[in-house]
Amino acid sequence: MNEKPKSHDDIFNQLDKFQAMDCKYSDGRILGSMCTEAHPIAKEAFFKFIDSNLGDPGLFKGTKLIENKALKMIGSFLSIENPVGHIVTGGTEANIMAIRSARNIARGSKGIKNGEIIVSKSAHFSFKKAADMLNLKLIHIALDENYSINTDLVKENINDNTVAIVGIAGTTELGMIDSIENLSKIATQNDIHLHVDAAFGGFSIPFLKEKDYDLPNFDFSIEGVKSITIDPHKMGLSPIPSGCILFRNQSFLDAMSVDSPYLTIKNQSTIVGTRLGASAAATYAVMSYLGREGYRKHAEIALEKTHFLAENIKKLGYDLIVEPKLNIIVFNHPNLETGELARLLEDRNWKISCSSYPKAIRIILMNHIKKEHLIEFINDLDEISRSI
Ligand SMILES: *Cc1c(COP(=O)(O)O)cnc(C)c1O
Repeated sequence: MNEKPKSHDDIFNQLDKFQAMDCKYSDGRILGSMCTEAHPIAKEAFFKFIDSNLGDPGLFKGTKLIENKALKMIGSFLSIENPVGHIVTGGTEANIMAIRSARNIARGSKGIKNGEIIVSKSAHFSFKKAADMLNLKLIHIALDENYSINTDLVKENINDNTVAIVGIAGTTELGMIDSIENLSKIATQNDIHLHVDAAFGGFSIPFLKEKDYDLPNFDFSIEGVKSITIDPHKMGLSPIPSGCILFRNQSFLDAMSVDSPYLTIKNQSTIVGTRLGASAAATYAVMSYLGREGYRKHAEIALEKTHFLAENIKKLGYDLIVEPKLNIIVFNHPNLETGELARLLEDRNWKISCSSYPKAIRIILMNHIKKEHLIEFINDLDEISRSI
């Protein structure tokens, strides 16, 4: 560390240099990210509440009310009037909280000591972290022919130690939606917590359904659903870090609350202690600004771009792994290995990602990717397929 203070200009000149090395969403080259540039209104609210600490809500009573309002707004499009939960750092923290609550309740009511959680092969890796931290065994279920969780296998894998079943509404790799209705029946029959991971799909599926897209239900209107993860910092246009965990009622938070001496509140159920009020303020601001109408438009535009790219990819002789349900496209070329195709695209300065199961090129059509970027990308795909 420097001994003497540096000047503001020195520091920011240096920061500028580092920032120039980062990829920028606005360049339209980032094709493999579930995050995007936050809405300007969200950024403004974020900076305004930058010093607010929701870990000590007695000091930040107004911010706490904003968090409650944000939860209620999110609940309003997930079919629950009075959800309880928190605005957290992201899907990972939300998933860990859901599983922690389920584990504690199962430990208390059924005396389960060596718990297991059932997830599909396409579950996000945050469940590996949750299982590791919470001392649970992770049971991976194979996918069915639609790349969704095979619910027959879920049934077969339930045993006396199962503490939770996870369904996904918008898988990270393929954007597929599990049959939450079927999982709910299984979970209810066996008195097991059903958690829905809608980190990616939560801010688009409800709005696409309002636009009459034929997508399955996944929310609290389904009896067995006890908790939902949804990420404002993905399709919600809120800044990083903004995640959200919603539970059906207070008992799920109580199951993991600990005493919090020397704070203005008596107990705390979040994993982190000191935590951002800025994320809650930003999420509330952008949701209010856009309204349902804004999110319907946003989700539909993303899906239209997805269909445009998908059609062109097929025309050029590439194979889609699956017809997209949400704004994710996963594809291969019949005569090229995925790794080789990825390298050719990276050489052309496209920041793509690869799915692992099945292995393929994965593109997420976020807000920052405009039609002109897609046309450039399609031209490059054309050149690549002609050159082999
Ligand atoms: C992105 C994602 C997560 C993890 O969320 P973070 O915000 O990166 O912690 C969890 N589940 C799904 C389905 C996701 O797409």
